[in-house]
Amino acid sequence: MGKKTDAEHPGEFALIAEIFAPLAKADQNSFGLTDDAALLSPISGKELVVTADMMIAGVHFFPDDEAGLVARKLLRVNLSDLAAKGAVPHGYILTIALPKEVTMAWLRAFAAGLAADQAEYRINLLGGDTTSGPGPLCLSLTAMGWVDRGLMPRRSGARGGDDIYVTGTIGDAALGLQVRRDRGWGNLSRQASKDLLQRYLLPQPRVALGLRLPGRIHASIDISDGLAADLGHILETSDKGAEIETARIPLSIAARQALEAGMTDMPQLLSGGDDYEILFTAPLEHRQSLMEAADQCGVRLSRIGRITPSGGAVFLDEKGHPLALARAGYQHF
Ligand code: ADP
Ligand code: MG
Repeated sequence: MGKKTDAEHPGEFALIAEIFAPLAKADQNSFGLTDDAALLSPISGKELVVTADMMIAGVHFFPDDEAGLVARKLLRVNLSDLAAKGAVPHGYILTIALPKEVTMAWLRAFAAGLAADQAEYRINLLGGDTTSGPGPLCLSLTAMGWVDRGLMPRRSGARGGDDIYVTGTIGDAALGLQVRRDRGWGNLSRQASKDLLQRYLLPQPRVALGLRLPGRIHASIDISDGLAADLGHILETSDKGAEIETARIPLSIAARQALEAGMTDMPQLLSGGDDYEILFTAPLEHRQSLMEAADQCGVRLSRIGRITPSGGAVFLDEKGHPLALARAGYQHF
C-alpha cells in the first residue's frame, strides 16, 4: 500500500465503474452496479446458502501481502464455506472500508485477483459498498450459492458410528503463517517453506467435491479454526463424541518434514487455523462412493475416525493412547 495521490484518485463512483463494474458484467442481475441493488432469481427446488467473512489488514493478512492474493483469499475463504454446505457458487457482495493509503494500483491488482477466481469458481460480483475510513483496510465479502432444498449438510447432523473424513492436508497454513512471519524457516527445505507459505496465502476451497456431498453425508463443517476446534463444533451441535486416529490425519510432505525436525507437533497441527478443508461425517454405506467422488475431483480424502455416542473428541496416538491437546483453535474474543 503506497501513497495515493489525488491525480490517481477517481472518486467513489468512478472507482466503482472502473474497478468493480467489470467484475459484475457477467451477471445481468447486477445491472452493472448502476442501480441501488441487485436481483437474485430463486431457482425452483433450490435454497440459497449465504455466508460472510471479513478480513482486516494487520489481523487476517499482512498489510504488504500482494493485493491479488488478498482478494483471492477473501473470495476463497467464503467459497470454502459454500463448499462445506454443498452449494453451487452464484454471486457475492463486497463491502470495503479503504484507508487513504490504498492506491489505485493496489485496487487494480485486487480486482485482477477477484477476476481470476471468479472465472475459476464461476461466481460473479453482484454489488457492495465502498467507504473510506480512518482505520486499517477492511474487506467484507458475502457469498451466495444454491443447494437442493432440504439437503444443505448442517453441523448438527452427525450420528453415532459415522465415519469422519477430512479433505486435503491439515496444519499447513498455520505452519505457512509461521514462515510468513519469520520470512523463512530454519531447517525446513526451501521447497517445503514455499509450499507451506502458499497454503497460507492461497487456500484451495473444495468446491467441486462439496457439490457431491449433499444427500451422502450427515454433517459438515469448513475447517478454518483448526481441525480440533471445528470437529468440536460438529460434536457440540450434534451432541456426539468422536475417536480420531491421529496416524490417519493427512499431512503434506512439508508438514511431515517440520514434524520430523521437531519444529511442530501433532497438537499444533490439529489446532492451527486457515486450513480451509472440509470435515464431514457419513454413514459407512457411502465409503466407496465418497472416495470415488474425491478421486474424480482430484481431492485427497482421508477417513480419520468415527463418531461415538458422546464424550467429546478423543485423539489417539499410534499406540492407541489419548493425546493431550493443550489449546483449541484460534478465537478472536
Ligand atoms: P448507495 O448510495 O445505495 O450505497 P452506492 O453508490 O454505494 O449506493 O453503490 C452504487 C452501486 O455500486 C451499487 O450497485 C452497489 O452495489 C455498487 N457497489 C458499491 N461499492 C461496491 C463494491 N465495493 N463492490 C461491488 N459493488 C459495489
Ligand atoms: Mg454505498
